[in-house]
Amino acid sequence: MRNKPNILVTGTPGTGKTTTSAALAEATHLRHINIGELVKDKKLHDGWDDQLDCYVINEDLVCDELEEIMEGGGNIVDHHGCDFFPERWFDRVVVLQTENSILYDRLSKRGYSGAKLTNNIECEIFQVLLEEAKDSYQEEIVVAMKSDSVDDMNRNVAAITEWVRSWSSTT
Ligand code: ADP
Ligand code: MN
Repeated sequence: MRNKPNILVTGTPGTGKTTTSAALAEATHLRHINIGELVKDKKLHDGWDDQLDCYVINEDLVCDELEEIMEGGGNIVDHHGCDFFPERWFDRVVVLQTENSILYDRLSKRGYSGAKLTNNIECEIFQVLLEEAKDSYQEEIVVAMKSDSVDDMNRNVAAITEWVRSWSSTT
């Protein structure tokens, strides 16, 4: 048994995973692992997908790279997907959700347009990541959180920090 929990922070791109995970890491002293950056830095991919405009993640390499780290506990994993991680890795799965018009503005600011922009908005409308999380993990550990404003984010970080405290004191 690990003595610190592992938390997955997932959601559609732009919902605030990286910002929230960074703030949470500061509040809890858990380790923030941004899967996108890890994949790029350690070359855990099978090249660039021109169509989707992102790396083709090699899921086996990512899981091998993280296995020992996850066994040790105390990690916040930040990724816009969750179905390829082993179920046993996580004690809590947080799905961030953002209102469409707000998400549209955030992604436009990030330079997304055309199909890339509409695909992500649809992904959010159809709650794709929430469904994926519920399909991949026990529903009791999956929690959806609204991430429209800075107030929302602060509230989410405070709530998860409290959860980490109680987890650590009961195990
Ligand atoms: P993700 O990692 O999910 O793609 P980011 O954390 O990079 O999202 O956030 C995308 C943009 O939206 C950033 O400019 C960030 O500052 C802003 N942002 C994220 N979450 C919130 C929030 N809850 N309220 C206001 N702005 C936010
Ligand atoms: Mn991110």
